[in-house]
Amino acid sequence: MRIVLTGPPGAGKGTQAALLAKRLDIPHISTGDLFRANIEQGTELGEQVKAILREGRLVPDEVTVAMAADRMERPDARHGFLLDGFPRNISQSEALDGMLRDWGHKLDAVLDLEIPEDEVVHRIAGRRVCRKDSSHVFHVDYSPPRREGVCDACGGELYQREDDREETVRKRLAVYHEETEPIIDYYRAQGLVVTISALGTVPQVTQRAMAALPERAE
Ligand code: AMP
Repeated sequence: MRIVLTGPPGAGKGTQAALLAKRLDIPHISTGDLFRANIEQGTELGEQVKAILREGRLVPDEVTVAMAADRMERPDARHGFLLDGFPRNISQSEALDGMLRDWGHKLDAVLDLEIPEDEVVHRIAGRRVCRKDSSHVFHVDYSPPRREGVCDACGGELYQREDDREETVRKRLAVYHEETEPIIDYYRAQGLVVTISALGTVPQVTQRAMAALPERAE
């Protein structure tokens, strides 16, 4: 199964991607996580993209596509993957189509998480992420950890992503509307788009997504 997960920042892509990937037994590939890991480890790539992430802008396509391709070519992704945060504009979508064509594969679905804009800002502003595992996500109102600042799952430190501050969120939303939203029409023309509401509890959204995805053996 090869899936692209899309939707505005704050729709719950990271949370749902981790859960869906587990259920479908495919790797969860998040370009945002890959960039953050590089920044954390102080790699050359990390240095190159640090300021861009902090400002909520998009990393140049060349860099992003090469990194995503590299990850998709790893053996665990041979039978499928769930892409989270990639592609993020038409040119990345075209690059992905080209790669898949070269590998003799195609996408099975583009899952679009839909959410009202004021809900996005509230969700992001309250989001806290675990330093040890970015799939451990909490919210100060919706799903607070048992102990403030500490991850329930692994005891890691919870922090607010630098790009989750309100002014950056607004910038990321603007970038989403301008650059990313057009990919939905691009994929709609290929008959791949499945839109679901991202409102409700985490398990409700996962259930909705599983029901909406096409059934496929591989
Ligand atoms: P995310 O975790 O998906 O919200 O991504 C965090 C940040 O990483 C974005 O605001 C961008 O700066 C960068 N980023 C992630 N994925 C991409 C992509 N496909 N293309 C360009 N920049 C990206």
